[in-house]
Amino acid sequence: MNNLNTWTGLINAYRDRMPIDQGEEVITLHEGNTPLVPLPYISDLVGANVYAKVEGANPTGSFKDRGMTMAVTKAKSQGKKVLICASTGNTSAALAAYATRAQIPCVVLIPKGKIALGKLAQAVMHGAHIMQINGNFDEGLRLVRELSEIDSVGIMNSINPFRVQGQKSAAFEICDALGKAPDQHFIPVGNAANIYAYWVGYQEYEQDGITSSSPKMRGVQADGSAPFVYGFPVENPETIATAIRIGAPASYEKALTARDESGGSITAQTDEKILHAYKMIASKDGVFVEPGSAASIAGLLAAHENNEIVKDSTIVCTVTGHGLKDPDTATADIQIPAAVDPSLESVMSLIDRL
Ligand SMILES: *Cc1c(COP(=O)(O)O)cnc(C)c1O
Repeated sequence: MNNLNTWTGLINAYRDRMPIDQGEEVITLHEGNTPLVPLPYISDLVGANVYAKVEGANPTGSFKDRGMTMAVTKAKSQGKKVLICASTGNTSAALAAYATRAQIPCVVLIPKGKIALGKLAQAVMHGAHIMQINGNFDEGLRLVRELSEIDSVGIMNSINPFRVQGQKSAAFEICDALGKAPDQHFIPVGNAANIYAYWVGYQEYEQDGITSSSPKMRGVQADGSAPFVYGFPVENPETIATAIRIGAPASYEKALTARDESGGSITAQTDEKILHAYKMIASKDGVFVEPGSAASIAGLLAAHENNEIVKDSTIVCTVTGHGLKDPDTATADIQIPAAVDPSLESVMSLIDRL
């Protein structure tokens, strides 16, 4: 018999590797277990076996659910009365959903006018208390940090150590699916917790002998928002990839650890290259991701041009969030064709042009 529908979330699936106590109530939306999808077009292009870890398939449409199930589970058992985060959008969407499940009110600080429409819709629908600030993500996070001395308030940004513990599960899933660790792993880098979380997961499996290696971690930033490439914080980060529009990453040192211990790199791509990758993965391989997520693909394409891809090697690109999160970018330069009569002739004339 098929064991369909037995997945009850990543905490239960990887219980012995999670900081969870016997009898502790698990706050879950059955996140995780996302598809590891082969990308045939892109694989052909770069001459390797390329897979996308499709994190848009999580309950709120991004990998943030992985950290949030763990962090909200802990906040609930610690008796927190209010949960708060600063967010470029997806953290607030995830927190709003998990706080609802835990029945704890939440406050989300979002940068004015810079949040993708889908993410805002989620925070609204899950009943988050939304505060728009005249400032960017970095300023929001600074504000949140100042609240950390108030015991009843739970800080739900990735400076919350439980987030990384949940997020490392994505590396476990990849190794479980492939039966080994990939050779290289490309991942978008914003606040820089996720690249570190994957590294923690890969290292844990290797140290326990479940895998015999760990991949080179290849972080990818956007050019206008690339503190790792410049080596110093960026005051006014700008990029169309709003999910990684962060100038002063909270996990800066940890991401450097992941980069250096793995023998990897953190590079930056222009918005133009990111949008090119965004369109390619959607139109050639059928996977619709948000612009920030396509940074990993753009990084892979650049690495290929630099001859950094070994033929037939195994490569995973994390695509961090669903394309529907940001419908404005998707439809920015399309023209919806004018309406025509609903006739067979109209349809046939279109078909004939294909
Ligand atoms: C949060 C987020 C990122 C950046 O992850 P970090 O851990 O902050 O580096 C990238 N893409 C998407 C879609 C995100 O939501």
